Amino acid sequence: MHLHDPGSNMTEKTSIEFHNVRFCYGEVCAVKGVNFSLPPHQLTVFVGPNGGGKSTLIKLLTGLLKPQEGTITYHKDVEIGYVPQNFAFDMSFPLTVEEMVLQGTLTKQILPFARYSPAQKERAADAIRRVGLSGFERRGISQLSGGQLQRAVIARTLASNADIIALDEPDACLDIDAAKELYGILRTLKGEKTILLASHNIEPALDIADRALYVNKTVREYFSPHALRDELKGGISI
Ligand code: ADP
Ligand code: MG
Repeated sequence: MHLHDPGSNMTEKTSIEFHNVRFCYGEVCAVKGVNFSLPPHQLTVFVGPNGGGKSTLIKLLTGLLKPQEGTITYHKDVEIGYVPQNFAFDMSFPLTVEEMVLQGTLTKQILPFARYSPAQKERAADAIRRVGLSGFERRGISQLSGGQLQRAVIARTLASNADIIALDEPDACLDIDAAKELYGILRTLKGEKTILLASHNIEPALDIADRALYVNKTVREYFSPHALRDELKGGISI
């Protein structure tokens, strides 16, 4: 049993703790000896070199991968919204922004679009508004720019009422303006949601971060995002 569910012992629903976690893909150990916690309502940033293990840690956090050693402690009712790296969308699929965000309100049952309740529609509309896509409800997702699509995926996570949002390099394919918009949205969600952001875009990521973790096979926590930025200037290779 690797995933430890402490139930009522963990009072804060969105607290997550990694204890001595290891995960290897065959011979390749992506991460080992990983200890860190995700404090509630803070924005934590993962920075580190390509191949350092950021995506692996996010997949462990969301339960897509299971630790081979160590434990991940979390509240039994926590809901995690995951925005994967390079999510592959079938862009020819005839889905509108509203339909995609409405799907986020579904829990276990799948309903045809016509059966969404007014409350679900309200939640979707609110999420669409918060990511600045009002007016785009009827637009097909294949007609969105990269930044708009990324924001629609975030809206879907918001509509799902997830407690934690984990975004894996959401700014990787965005131009500067779209990335700025994205960071602006994350800033508005800060404090309300617990956010984990993996990014290569060190400056803006550390700028909005409450906490900075450096990921390179293991996880090193810095006293502050500024401390990590200063160290990177001093030359940790990234
Ligand atoms: P990052 O997201 O920081 O770039 P990853 O977590 O994707 O790092 O990768 C960490 C290490 O694990 C790398 O050495 C990578 O090559 C390896 N890796 C990642 N995914 C797989 C996989 N599916 N199979 C084999 N090795 C993998
Ligand atoms: Mg990655």
